[in-house]
This record gives sequence, structure tokens and C-alpha cells, in this order.
Amino acid sequence: MDGRGREMINFLPLIYEDELLFSVISRYKQICGMESKRALEMDLFKIYKRMGRKSVLFPQYLDTFVSNLPPTSKLSIKEIITNHTMYPFYTAMLSEQKSQSVFIAMEKGYGKCIENMVGMAGSKVKSTNYLRYCPKCYKEDLEEIGESYWRRLPQVPGALYCPTHKVLYKDSNVVITDCRNDFYCVDEDTCNTEVMMDTNPNQFMLLNLRYMENVSYLFKQHVIKKDLTFIINFYIDRLRERGLASKGGKIYIERLIEAFLSYYPSDYLELMQSVVDIEKEANWLRLFVRNNNKNRSPLRHLLFLQFLGITVEELYSTKSTTGKQTILLKRTPLFDVEERRKQWLMIIEKNPGVSRSQLKQIGKGLHTWIYVNDREWYEEVTPRTRERKQKAEIIDWEKRDEGCLEFAKSAVERILNAEGKPIRITPSTIRREIGVSRWFNHAKLLKTRQYISDVTEDIESYRVRKIVWAIEEMIKQGEKLTVYKIQLKAGFGGGNKGIKDIIIKTIM
Ligand SMILES: [Zn+2]
Repeated sequence: MDGRGREMINFLPLIYEDELLFSVISRYKQICGMESKRALEMDLFKIYKRMGRKSVLFPQYLDTFVSNLPPTSKLSIKEIITNHTMYPFYTAMLSEQKSQSVFIAMEKGYGKCIENMVGMAGSKVKSTNYLRYCPKCYKEDLEEIGESYWRRLPQVPGALYCPTHKVLYKDSNVVITDCRNDFYCVDEDTCNTEVMMDTNPNQFMLLNLRYMENVSYLFKQHVIKKDLTFIINFYIDRLRERGLASKGGKIYIERLIEAFLSYYPSDYLELMQSVVDIEKEANWLRLFVRNNNKNRSPLRHLLFLQFLGITVEELYSTKSTTGKQTILLKRTPLFDVEERRKQWLMIIEKNPGVSRSQLKQIGKGLHTWIYVNDREWYEEVTPRTRERKQKAEIIDWEKRDEGCLEFAKSAVERILNAEGKPIRITPSTIRREIGVSRWFNHAKLLKTRQYISDVTEDIESYRVRKIVWAIEEMIKQGEKLTVYKIQLKAGFGGGNKGIKDIIIKTIM
């Protein structure tokens, strides 16, 4: 007996951009005036496949769902998965093959939670427990289309601000995680139009809107996936360009962590569920850049890309990477080196008193080869030039040193008096405060260097300063002081014993 015709649903509401499938079904239920969740599930997924709606973020058995749609419906499984579920975000950093198996699980049904497949279950980065929304989007929807709907964007972990309205997203009262939950619409029972007060520094919003741009890109573009090895190699290449990895691809992890922590305020990292505990040998950032197969949250990939100053689009449009490489010394027959050295010495001998750049002109190709392959020897034998001496004399190092010293002193003062969580005083934070690069470290700036080395804070004093700050801050706000709360306020995670002792000593 062919019963299909009778079981099909007659219509499906118009689907909005970025709307979750859960939301479409909720609106369908409301329009039909269906009371029973079971009847609805029977309608859409057949009752024996109840898993279809178990997950708000990753619905399953979409093939059954699509086959029950009215014949006029052009909605395809692919369209649902890529435009109306969280699939594009959570599979963004998975290989094509793995993404494909997630896709099939959503299409045909998997029986278990897809959250496990995409690594959400074991991840330290949790998705929210409630469906989230922007109060201004909600208000505008009501005014413009007479109803509102659940969007995907606010459900992304780390999505703090609505990119359109630049206000904080809020939790609704619809629980995502409870699979017995019913289908609820965005309306006055679940949401409201009140905008939350934003107490974050303005910088947080800017950082987060940048993050949201990358998230939106993942939702809008159907990217061709890269495997993890490619992505890690991509990171190594970019770190190498920034001097945070060696030519061979060894990552200078301490420097990387320092740079990362000076890019992101630790309170922001806390909001993004990604605090980097420098005390911990196995903090996430260390593990993140290591080439192992461990699952990494897409949130952290985006954080890391943003830190590198790279859009997610650039990652996907990159065709090839180098990653780690063995630097082989060019094997040149020995006589060749000797021959070249001889020639170079001859040039020097025949041209007494000329500058290095003139020598370079005279022995063009030879100079390049020696400079690249035999640099040490080159430095040893090639005379320093008059030209350079003259230049050097122009710079009055003592005077410059005085000036730099003043800069450094006022920078330190500014860092110490800055609002918010204390920043550690190090050569690089001082340089950053002044806005200068590494030349500031010049060997001839004697007093400046001495001063910087004197004021550089060791980690112990820095911790104490953070703790004192946290305590003062809490007293100001009339909070109750407990060791644990101080620890969190100062930005150290909860489990650190050494810190506890320092706090106790500080309070005593
Ligand atoms: Zn909005």
C-alpha cells in the first residue's frame, strides 16, 4: 500500500536566512496549532526515528524529513545541513572525509549524538546550555516580519556580540541540552527585547566582532576542508614569518605564549573559554600548536588565526604549506668553497679601502653566494667600511640613549598605572607601550637597556602584584574575599596550589 501521499506534510513555513531547522519546525508547530510533540514528530520524522529532533544543533534523519516535505518544496538535504544547522562551523577544521561522515550521519541518521563525532563532547570549549538571541534582532523582526526566529550565529561558542547591532547576545529560557524539551519559538515566552548592560572594556567587543566575521564566513562560504596536518603546517609557516618559529619550523613556544597573551586580555580569554595558564606545562596553547591528532575546537582555531592577523578565508585559499623542514646545508664540493674564498680575497686585496657595498657591486654573483652560504667567513675577512663608520658617527648614541630612557620610564609608569588587570613589565611590553620594535634593544643604548633589565618583573613579583590588584578590586566592589575567588579574579584558574600559598601569604 502506498501511504506516502497521505503522510506528507502540506506545507513548510518560509525559512529565514541563518535560521536553525529547530526554529523552522517550532514555527511549523505553532502555525499548525499542534499541541502534541509526538504528533509533530510523527509528521516530520516518523515516530520510530525520534532521534531526528533530539539535537537542536545537529538534527538527524534529514532524508526522512525531506521526503515528507510537500512535492513543491525545493529544500534539499544539503541546503538544510549547510544553511540551517551548526554543521559548517563544527566541521570547518575537520578533514573533508570526516566532514562527509558527519554529513551522512545527519542525512541517514546515526543513532548516537553527532556532538560526539565533531568533538564537542570531549572539548573544554562548551556550547551554551540555552538557545541564545540578540534582543535587537528580535525587536526588529517583530516590527518588520511580525515574528522572529532562532538564528545560528548566537549559538556559536564564543559568540558574544551581535555583529549587526553590536549588543550582547542573551540566553533565552529554552534549554538546548535537554532532549525531552519541546519546540519553542522566539516569542515573549522565551525572549525579551531588553538590552543587557555591557560592562566589558570596548576592546572586547572589537575583538569579538573580528571573531564573528570569521564565524560568519564559515556559515556563508562552503569551504573545501583542509586536514589538520595542512592547518598545523600553515600555522608554522605564519609563525616563522613572525619570528615565532625557527627556519626549520621549531616553534618558540615561550615567545608565542607571551605574544598571544599580550594580544588577548586574559579576561577576554576567560569569556572565550580559553584561558592560557602559563604555569601549566600542558596549557591548551602548547598542545594546540603541537602536531598531534587531538581534537581542537574551531573556536580556538579562530582565536589563533585572529592572533596571527589572518582571516579564515586566507587559510582556505592557501594552496600549499611548508611546515617543518629539514634545513640541509647545500652540499658544495669543497674546492668550490675554497675557490670562491680565494676569489673574494682577491677582490678585497685589489680594492683597498672600499666599502662593503662597493665590494658587493664589484663581485656581484660571488658576493651573494658567499654572503648566503659562507656568512661567518665573510664577516671575518671582509673589512668594515669607512662609509659605515661615517654613518655611525652621525648618530649620537648617548643622546639617543637619554631620550629612549625617558620613553622607557614613562612607558613603565603608564603600564603600572593602567586600569584593569596588571600587565607584566617585560622588555616587550615596554616596547609595545612605546610603540617601537626591536631596535630599542640596541646594544649602544646602555642606560635604557640597564633600566629595562632592572624593572623587568620576575614572574613571582608579577603574580603578587596581580593578587594585590584583585584583592583591592574586590574590596572596592564589596565582594567577599576568599582565596579561591581572589585566584579567579587575578586570572589564575582554580587548580593552582602554588598560587594559593602566595595569596594566603599576601592576605596575612
Ligand atoms: Zn542583532
